[in-house]
Amino acid sequence: MTTIGHSLVSSSVAALCIPRFDSSKKKIIFYFVFIVLGSLPDLPIKSWGHQEYEISHNLFVLSTLIITGITFFCFWRRLLDQIGGLKVIIGGSLAILSHLLLDSMYNHGNGIAIFYPFGNGRLSLPIKCFSIVGGISNLLTFNTMKIVMIEILFFSPILLFSILIRKYFCKNKTN
Ligand SMILES: [Zn+2]
Repeated sequence: MTTIGHSLVSSSVAALCIPRFDSSKKKIIFYFVFIVLGSLPDLPIKSWGHQEYEISHNLFVLSTLIITGITFFCFWRRLLDQIGGLKVIIGGSLAILSHLLLDSMYNHGNGIAIFYPFGNGRLSLPIKCFSIVGGISNLLTFNTMKIVMIEILFFSPILLFSILIRKYFCKNKTN
């Protein structure tokens, strides 16, 4: 999955769990943090990302990071309250884990070895429209544009739906 697909899904999760803000600056920061969380396994860091796929796209590694984050916020309750409480933490965790699900939708490989090194199970949920012919390139090619467009068409309605749900509940809270 490209960063576009991951960003749209992470933003959808953010729309459903981040608190209401008076300042749009805070809202943008929250959406940005969720986009980073959704792309966490792909971050271009040494010994991470797609060059170390078994480590960065591993359920145990990501769960350890999530549990560490939750523990940190349990000790720093005031910060937890400031960022919107447990639902934001759960949402952030879902944004991270959504990465594995989304990457498994591409049928270019044999799935993701999410249980490595403890099991051979692979997460593979190929969806036909996400099939890649020729692979994703870092260059702006016709194929890359096609993949990005498919992801936009597929995930934008989900983001739109999440924003509508958010607006509905925010409106009802003010009434
Ligand atoms: Zn990935």
